[in-house]
Amino acid sequence: MGESFVYNGHPARVIFGFGTLSKVAEETRRLGRRALVLSTPQQADSARALAATLGDLCVGVFTEATMHTPVDVTERALETVRKLEADCTVALGGGSTTGLGKAIALRTDLPQLVIPTTYAGSEMTPILGETERGAKKTVRTPKALPETVVYDVDLTMSLPASLSATSGLNAIAHSVEALYAEEANPVVSLMACEGIEALAKALPRIVEKPGDRDARWQALYGAWLSGICLGAVGMGLHHKLCHTLGGAFDLPHAETHSIVLPHAAAYNARATQPAMARIAAALGADEAPMGLYDLAGRIGVKRALRDIGMPEAGIPRAAEMALANPYWNPRPLDKQAIERLIERAWSGAPPDPTI
Ligand code: NAD
Repeated sequence: MGESFVYNGHPARVIFGFGTLSKVAEETRRLGRRALVLSTPQQADSARALAATLGDLCVGVFTEATMHTPVDVTERALETVRKLEADCTVALGGGSTTGLGKAIALRTDLPQLVIPTTYAGSEMTPILGETERGAKKTVRTPKALPETVVYDVDLTMSLPASLSATSGLNAIAHSVEALYAEEANPVVSLMACEGIEALAKALPRIVEKPGDRDARWQALYGAWLSGICLGAVGMGLHHKLCHTLGGAFDLPHAETHSIVLPHAAAYNARATQPAMARIAAALGADEAPMGLYDLAGRIGVKRALRDIGMPEAGIPRAAEMALANPYWNPRPLDKQAIERLIERAWSGAPPDPTI
């Protein structure tokens, strides 16, 4: 017999395809008349080119978006918003730029249009992670949810193969944890399986041939679905651990996700067998944790936290911190097992489902 469930969909208008950048002016007009375009310094040229196509609809460009959304950057952006009397934002970039748009919206209620260029998925969530004085704080509020998202596959063609691989695994992590979330439900699970399958098929093709347009379409489609999953249900051990490790040791976001995911799946495997079977099927693998580890190997991402700068001495502290604020996880949190998990992720060993 079927079980009861709650499905909480978030309202967002999504435009998806090739060449959809041409729709941004029309979509911006639905939100405002004085747009501030946002980007990282690395994507400033693309942001300025976009601003030029918006013409009178754009009042300025702010190009200081930074990973983990530092509050001092947000304050500078807010000054620009006030000075230029912007009435909406257009964020062009990955999760860092989307984060800045959300941080502005949280404080001003300005409507947001987001044009994602990575697979991070932030554009589909009401979640904002901000950093102040070295500590990252997460808030979940409808104010942070972007009103309009324009996915243009063409913009992802320039995402280097290595970043595509880690960013794609970051997206897969959202879908994996959605399948065994406390609020898991049939609609989100459908999107999660479809998202994992699309990304697992697309990423090896992208790494082999970054210019493969069909694979790029498939990866962005999978990322979109995975972003919906992240926004719709709560995440477990994997996301909390990545958040902790990233904050404590200043590790890069997507790489940390890529390395930890097979191990977090192994930790939860026995408690979530039906979800694991669906993940394995979507990956085309015999078993979910090893399937994730093999996929990471096939697409050439680093598989050891020591290779991205985590000190070995930090393992016990990381385990302690991961338990500091209790949260829901399908398997209860066990400090020793989590420490063993981090040890394996640190050294690059394969995931151990008996952990
Ligand atoms: P990012 O936005 O920091 O981008 C990484 C680098 O790649 C940047 O220099 C960027 O300018 C560049 N780049 C982006 N797209 C490119 C492209 N198509 N071609 C060439 N270069 C490109 O990285 P990310 O992994 O997308 O985002 C990470 C941030 O997003 C973290 O701060 C993370 O916490 C946050 N995040 C938040 C959520 C949420 O729901 N709140 C979800 C996922 C990630």
